Amino acid sequence: MSRVYNFSAGPAVLPEEVLKEAADEMMDYRGCGMSVMEMSHRSKVYDDIIKDAEKDLRDLLNIPDNYKVLFLQGGASQQFAAIPMNLMKNKKAGYIVTGQWAKKAFAEAKMYGEAVELASSADKTFSYIPDCSNLAITDDMDYVYICENNTIYGTKYKTLPNTKGKDLVSDVSSCFLSEPMDVTKYGIVYGGVQKNIGPAGMVIDIIREDLITDDVLPGTPTMLKFKTQADNDSLYNTPPCYNIYICGKVFKWLKNMGGLEVMKQRNEEKAAVLYNFLDESKLFKGTVVKEDRSLMNVPFVTGDADLDAKFVAESKAAGLENLKGHRTVGGMRASIYNAMPKAGVEKLVEFMADFEKKNLK
Ligand SMILES: *Cc1c(COP(=O)(O)O)cnc(C)c1O
Repeated sequence: MSRVYNFSAGPAVLPEEVLKEAADEMMDYRGCGMSVMEMSHRSKVYDDIIKDAEKDLRDLLNIPDNYKVLFLQGGASQQFAAIPMNLMKNKKAGYIVTGQWAKKAFAEAKMYGEAVELASSADKTFSYIPDCSNLAITDDMDYVYICENNTIYGTKYKTLPNTKGKDLVSDVSSCFLSEPMDVTKYGIVYGGVQKNIGPAGMVIDIIREDLITDDVLPGTPTMLKFKTQADNDSLYNTPPCYNIYICGKVFKWLKNMGGLEVMKQRNEEKAAVLYNFLDESKLFKGTVVKEDRSLMNVPFVTGDADLDAKFVAESKAAGLENLKGHRTVGGMRASIYNAMPKAGVEKLVEFMADFEKKNLK
């Protein structure tokens, strides 16, 4: 067996301990004589798996009792529609557009009501987070929406927007559990799990209870109604059973690592290795403003598309996989999620230094 350092933005690297445990339990989950993939989601054994997963997530994020945790199908993108359908009582909401994912959510919301662009960083190819201290938020807006960590562009909000009392809805797909967060500052926090937690196809929603009502837009599908899912503890239909099981293992892994304060420190140290190199490099440069740099996704370029392509090819040959930037940005991107060890980032920087020596004219 040989594993590479996988810098993919998602689906992405998972902790090896988790993969090994899952492999060990594949044929016979703790004496059941079957895999978790094969068992009823209504069984006692499975009930323990999903309840444990929720409890561990609540512990990690200190989720208050008045917030529901939902494990749902459809990935993060399904929520682009579910959120307006459940929350747009006045059919109006404010969106802050900081990249492709926020843009997609904004476009989707327009199908259900008046979505207003409160701020955008499109003018500089989303290389910064706009000033959100005094946005034109009106009283009739149902919520304010952000994408907290911009996976493609590599920016992250360091302070949350002033929502002027409106509920904040945040897509945290690519920074989920990378550091502690104060859930009480949000109406909804949600994220697809394939970036920093588990296998693709599932989204976790953390929703303040008063936002879960029967008063949804006409035509909202039963499955997309938060109330359906909340009333049934994410078991209205067959949930993504195996995903929940793997996510549960990752939550336990995070607890064993010491929790989210420890992860934040580790992630800061890891990101610093790469950012410090980029700041000194004569060949490579980071693409976003320093203050708004993400700890999870680090885009960088040489400024020469041919050289970028050469870098991607040679890094792959050296066991550093998936460093090609998003097709809309070009260049390179290193995603350095929780499960990426510091040694992986150090190896990347070593490789970059060597590449620079050979290719700097
Ligand atoms: C990947 C990603 C999504 C889309 O997730 P899907 O599960 O593919 O729908 C949405 N938002 C952000 C911030 C992402 O990084």
